[in-house]
Amino acid sequence: KYSTKDVNGATTSNLNISIVGAGLVGSLAAIHLGKRGHKIKLYEYREDIRTAELVIGRSINLALSARGRKALAEVGLEDKLLEHGIPMYARMIHNLDESHKIIPYDNKSSQAIYSVGRKYLNEILLNAAEKYPNIELKINRKLSGGQVSNGEMIFTDTFTKEEEKVSSDLIVGCDGAFSSVRREMLKKPGFNYSQTYIEHGYLELCIPPAKDGGFKMPENYLHIWPRGKFMMIALPNQDRTWTVTLFMPFENFDAIKSSSDLLSFFNIYFADSIPLIGEERLIKDFFKTPAQHLVAIKCRPYHISSKVLLIGDAGHAVVPFYGQGMNAGFEDCSILTELFTQYDSNLEKILQEFSDQRWEDAHAISDLAMYNYVEMRDLVNKRSYLMRKAFDDF
Ligand code: FAD
Repeated sequence: KYSTKDVNGATTSNLNISIVGAGLVGSLAAIHLGKRGHKIKLYEYREDIRTAELVIGRSINLALSARGRKALAEVGLEDKLLEHGIPMYARMIHNLDESHKIIPYDNKSSQAIYSVGRKYLNEILLNAAEKYPNIELKINRKLSGGQVSNGEMIFTDTFTKEEEKVSSDLIVGCDGAFSSVRREMLKKPGFNYSQTYIEHGYLELCIPPAKDGGFKMPENYLHIWPRGKFMMIALPNQDRTWTVTLFMPFENFDAIKSSSDLLSFFNIYFADSIPLIGEERLIKDFFKTPAQHLVAIKCRPYHISSKVLLIGDAGHAVVPFYGQGMNAGFEDCSILTELFTQYDSNLEKILQEFSDQRWEDAHAISDLAMYNYVEMRDLVNKRSYLMRKAFDDF
């Protein structure tokens, strides 16, 4: 370790920090901590998202909101992302009778949430991280063992199967809801953890661009088809497509076994979306992959000793109905930076304070996200009773 002045002019010790997971939160955390002069190694299990064709099983676009924007602004990346993002000023409700209702997010000013592509966002973050000479990106490295509470990890090269032992002053676990960093922490006394799967799953569909190359629906809205027990939403993409996500109990997914089951289900509940998606594409995409599970993870604390900390989904995965999972993970990066400034790289204090400050908000956003599913699929629509009845009769 050696002392230097960080970008904000504060004296700081330079630490060897290993970040596990170069997803959205890990790559932003690398920039936040790298900007302070720490020596960062950023490990990622998968291939480089910048050259990978398709990220299977991950939402294609996400809603970026104020807390995420703040963390991006702090490292000079907000404008770049907003340039690409598509503002959504209101929800557009698609009623069963095919009428529409607009519910603004904010009546007084024109605040918006932004639809951004996951791949684009991750690419921007990785490109920005790689510009720092003190950040080293290590792709195709899987955390496979070690003792994280002592700052020790073993990574396996996913191609050569060679193992590398790594020792760090600090490990930041950003390896998502099924975190390997967290595995050892679960065995430590005083580490509280809960995992809740909801009985609903999700499946992604796509609305292609119109023949003239434009959007098939008004683009500055988050479109919602609330149907009581289930719902569909659509967020716009830069290429004029829409990512459509159907959220529904697994038993209802299972009941749709054939193309004709699917078309009759869509004809009853989402008739206006059929010409938008196209029958053929709807059938192809619906049966391509099974519905995915949704899990909420709560931890308290987020650290063990002064060596290991969980942030992002690894510490607090939430169901997606409040659009806050990534945003809360980005906010973790802001908070961590503030604590590094406040405690001048004293890891014991930083990690303890992070856990103390963060758990209440993280647990609250998780509960709000659970509640907002009911709001989005049901309460948002005054006539939901009729939908529920129609669904029960289906
Ligand atoms: P992840 O994105 O899961 O990244 C973890 C990374 O760690 C991955 O790259 C993985 O390969 C790597 N990794 C895993 N294990 C290892 C290992 N052993 N060794 C090395 N690397 C490893 N959030 C929002 O804010 N707004 C939204 O609109 C929104 N919509 C969503 C819609 C859906 C359908 C879903 C499912 C989620 C949505 N979210 C949204 C949540 C958001 O996707 C997550 O909160 C976000 O991806 C968390 O980022 P992360 O970097 O913490 O974890």
